Amino acid sequence: MVCIDDQDYFNRVNILSRQNFYEINLAGPCGFYCGTCRHYLARAKGLLNEKNLKHGCKGCRIQDKDCAWIKRDCALVRKNEIAFCFECRNFPCANLRKLDERHLSSDKISLIDNLLKIKKIGAEQWLKEQEAEWRCPKCGGSICVMDRECYDCSYELE
Ligand code: SF4
Ligand code: SF4
Ligand SMILES: [Zn+2]
Repeated sequence: MVCIDDQDYFNRVNILSRQNFYEINLAGPCGFYCGTCRHYLARAKGLLNEKNLKHGCKGCRIQDKDCAWIKRDCALVRKNEIAFCFECRNFPCANLRKLDERHLSSDKISLIDNLLKIKKIGAEQWLKEQEAEWRCPKCGGSICVMDRECYDCSYELE
């Protein structure tokens, strides 16, 4: 568990609140990195037909609707009253914990761990790290965490 003193926490929240949402588009309020999402990658790489998807997604903050995961059920997120769930006094709420469990079992990632990391190092640094972490080791392209394959060269993650 990451431990952060109160002053650091409030500084961080203030910085995040002022941050341009577009700069952190791919960092979802729920702690998911949209750069690894099937809906984002299929749209960005022109693979909607191939992946059997209708519209795809432009990323959490720009899309501004309908990523069903956490936005649908939480007014705080829908109304942009918080930038990330860790700012919420109910963090991690039951919905978020449920989503976290789902991602842990299907994608081997923890949204709650991601959120604690963002809280500690800031969204911009976290995004840089995520981009590097999910870069394809074979071609340098983009790995989809849901399909566990590269959307550029079809390399498969173990
Ligand atoms: S569908 Fe959700 S997780 Fe995927 S890119 Fe859109 S906002 Fe991000
Ligand atoms: S942690 Fe708070 S902001 Fe995030 S989904 Fe739960 S209630 Fe909403
Ligand atoms: Zn690749």
